[in-house]
Amino acid sequence: MSARFPAFRLGKVLATSFTGTLTERHGDAVERIPTPNRLVDWLAVSGLAVESCTTAQLERAWELRESIHAAATAAARRDPLPVSAVQIINDCSTQGRAAAILTPESNRQWRLSSTSSVEDALSVIAADAISIIAGERDGELALCASPTCQAAFFDTSQSRSRKWCDMNTCGNRQKKARFNANNRKNARSAK
Ligand SMILES: [Zn+2]
Repeated sequence: MSARFPAFRLGKVLATSFTGTLTERHGDAVERIPTPNRLVDWLAVSGLAVESCTTAQLERAWELRESIHAAATAAARRDPLPVSAVQIINDCSTQGRAAAILTPESNRQWRLSSTSSVEDALSVIAADAISIIAGERDGELALCASPTCQAAFFDTSQSRSRKWCDMNTCGNRQKKARFNANNRKNARSAK
């Protein structure tokens, strides 16, 4: 795995882990799958290993990713879903062939066809996005409270009160900012 690329942020939900390959969309955006090989790396750690990826397939992946981001954001805001995003998600979902396989250890694995594996992998991601946007799974779409992030994430907390897409990055940054602001205030009042 190449160290010169930004690290992945992997969550428990496939579709939002995928949208999380572009972070800080409203700040200094960080592209975490900038090359076809990096998409291959991401798919491998996400249980969707493929042998290769072309530039066109990477572009298709970016297109699906931004469509999921747009549709999930609209769903979190309870806005109508953008028609073009829905179209791309549905096209990706129907254009792949992937089969769920049950292992003897009771795990689910995905078996992709050998000829069009990236399309197959994208179809699994699209189907995952459909299931969370359609409200089929236990959880709720929400938007990260960090102004530079605003990523859509899937809140599975009991109280549905999660504020950040990721506690270790956005959550921590916010906590540090609050801590520093408090320190400044305390320093001023001590004078
Ligand atoms: Zn965030």
